[in-house]
This record gives sequence, C-alpha cells and structure tokens, in this order.
Amino acid sequence: MQPQKIDFLLTNTTLVTMNTEHQIIQNGAIAIKDGIIQWIGSQDQVGHQFEAKQKLDLNGKVVTPGLVNTHGHWAMTLFRGLVDDCPLEAWLDRIWKVEAAVVSPKSVVAGSQMAMIEMIRSGTTCAADMYWHYPESFDAVIQAGFRMINGPSFADIPGFEERRDTAYQTAIDLIDQYQHESLIHLFIQAHSTYMTNLPMLGDILKISLSRNIGFITHASESKGELENVYNKYGKTPIEVLDSVGLLGKKTLLAHCVHLSDAEIARLAETGTSVSHCPSSNMKLSSGIARVADMLQAGVNVSIGTDGPASNNDLDLFHEAQLAALVQKGVSGNPTILPAEKVFAMLTIDGARAFGLENQIGSLEIGKLADLIVIDFDAINLTPCYNLYSHFIYAMSPADVCHVMIHGKMIMQNRQMLTLDEEKVKSEVRQIAQQVQMV
Ligand SMILES: [Zn+2]
Repeated sequence: MQPQKIDFLLTNTTLVTMNTEHQIIQNGAIAIKDGIIQWIGSQDQVGHQFEAKQKLDLNGKVVTPGLVNTHGHWAMTLFRGLVDDCPLEAWLDRIWKVEAAVVSPKSVVAGSQMAMIEMIRSGTTCAADMYWHYPESFDAVIQAGFRMINGPSFADIPGFEERRDTAYQTAIDLIDQYQHESLIHLFIQAHSTYMTNLPMLGDILKISLSRNIGFITHASESKGELENVYNKYGKTPIEVLDSVGLLGKKTLLAHCVHLSDAEIARLAETGTSVSHCPSSNMKLSSGIARVADMLQAGVNVSIGTDGPASNNDLDLFHEAQLAALVQKGVSGNPTILPAEKVFAMLTIDGARAFGLENQIGSLEIGKLADLIVIDFDAINLTPCYNLYSHFIYAMSPADVCHVMIHGKMIMQNRQMLTLDEEKVKSEVRQIAQQVQMV
C-alpha cells in the first residue's frame, strides 16, 4: 500500500488528547494534513503509513491541544500597566479617554499583533477579542495564522441612535464578508446590558438568528454594574438578557461574578457558557465568581484573561493557576477545581464556549490541528508525576516551544514564524509615547 502523503508527522511525544476519556498516549505520534489531524496513536503503529513533508522528532516533549482564551480585548496591550489600583468605574473612565485619543486602525493592528505574540508564546492558539477596527484586525489575524473569535460589537455611545441603521447593516456586511475565513469565527457582541438598550439587544438577536452565529457580552461583573442595570431596566443583567432571548447555547457571558442561585440554574438550563476572568475580577475588586457552584449546576465555565489593561498579561496558564487557587482559598475546600478539570476548562470547555468543540479543544482524528508542544525538561517541571498538575501549578510560558494552528507552524523553537516581534514592539512603544501625552 502506498504511504499517505501528509504535511507533518510529530513523533516521540506524550500526547495529552483531552478527548472524552482524557486519554494520554505515551510514545505517541500525530499525523497532520491540510490543517486536520489525520491520525493519532502509538508511535509503534506508525510503520510506513505516511510520507511526511516535515518529520519532527519531539524527543519526549508533551503535545496538548492549544489553549482557548475565551475573553479579551487584544489591542489593550497598548494600555498595559497604564491604570492600576483603582475601581472599575474610575479605570473605565481613564481608559476610555486614552482610547478616544489613540485608537486607530493602525494602533489596533499593532496592539493586536502584540497580543497574538504574547498568547502564542504562552500556548494559546484561539482567543476571543472584543474591540474596534475589525477589518484591519481580522486581516492581521489571518496574516499571522492565529485563530480568532470576534465580530461586530454594539455599545450605546453618544450618537449611536442616529446611526443605528447603518451600524446594523455594517455588522451584517462584515459578517458576510468574513464568514468563510477558516481562522475567523464570527460572533455578534454587545459591550454589556448597561452600555446597550432593548432595541439594540433586539437587533443583536436578529443578527444572531439570521446569520446563525453566537453572542458574547460582559455580564454581572461588578456590584456597580448590577445597580446601574437595575436602575435602567428594573432587572439584573442576566434577567435582561433572558427577557430578550439572548441566553442559550450560542451565548458566552464574560465574568458572571455576581449571580444568584436562580441565575446559575438559568444559565445551566439554557446552556449559556461563562468566561471566568479571575485576574481582572480581583484586580478591579469586582469580586470572586462562584465557579464551583456554576460547575456543579452544569454550566460550561471556561477561562479568559480579559484585556491586558486589567490583568496585565495574556498568559492563560497563569490565569488557570489563579482560578484554581482562588476557588480553593475562598471555599476552604482543596478538592474544588482539580488540575485536570482546570486544564479541560482551558481547552475543550473553551472550545465548547464557542460551539467549536467538534473542531478544536482536543487532539482527535478529524479535528483541526491546533496544538502546542511543551518541553518537560524544564527545571520547574522536574520531576513529573502528573502532567495536569504541572500545567496548572508549575508551567511557565517559556516551557512552550512549538505552536501549530490550523496545521501551520506559527512558533518553532520559540521563534515566531509569522509575526515580526521586534517590529511590533517598536510600533507599540511609539504608540505608548502618544498614550503618555493624553
Ligand atoms: Zn472584558
């Protein structure tokens, strides 16, 4: 029998599949063609099945699915460390002023490229973004070979009502233009219920239904938000979204720090997913989300870094460690959020939050080849009794040595292959000079 022609054959590796059984394959191999995992199994079974353009002996390194960051505002890398140690409302006030002064298509592209480099370096292969200047940032993502969740974002800002019809049509046009891009997964987004209104949420629902795409928004992040929303609608943010039909399997809510038991039950019942962002929630003193309660109720909880202006990094492994430690610390129960579950939240549960669980989030035949290679020879990972333990409690971004997205090597031996890191840093430093003048 003729060997099958493939693009990559990775051998001599431990494969952490995150399939339904959470199978780990020692001495494994994985074959990739046209962006898809063609075969996965024990190296002994490879034989002469494949003729690979590129063979990579991983010398005992570990391969896992790429991490999925379910909430962020990428170009806010431009404002990293600009406003720290103040409440959410004051933070937003300062950030919005600076954004009004420096945000442009060019600065958003530089900030987004910076974010992608940081995420790739720390093992993330797919991430959600909520920001402005979509066509430019979409094109930068396609060029970089990263996987992005994004789409038009609605917010009730001065002058919006006058251009409501054009905003609706612009959103539809953007979705139609990019719907066939394999690296761009389109969603419709709202900033929040306090920064939108009922007609706007109605428009969003219409777009979601007519284009069969999901919906992302911030919800129940701070007590201040709950008060604002109650004054505006006489309801909580979750009740507002429920009343307009925007909860469901295609909805992802960022934060959900302040939820009642009934709201948690409602999220579970509707299949609504949550992005848990512990760094941002704690840094802005928004509170600590009831992650264990949500998981127990059956809510799909994933992990997000939020924007780098409120975190202040995009390292999802670090975020996962924090998620696990905080829940144990506040509950007094060390069995809550075991490392293996937290790693699932970073991978397959993150994919599920976007309805992409059949495409990414685990290493399985037929899925997209989004994967990372981790060097377990590192001092901080030695010795190793349990891989999941190290992923959550001991990993450093520097341990990630190769990153593949959609079957294409994006970082190899820690060298960025599609993004010019020095050029991006230089552009961002120039923008930072303008930021300092605001
Ligand atoms: Zn956010």
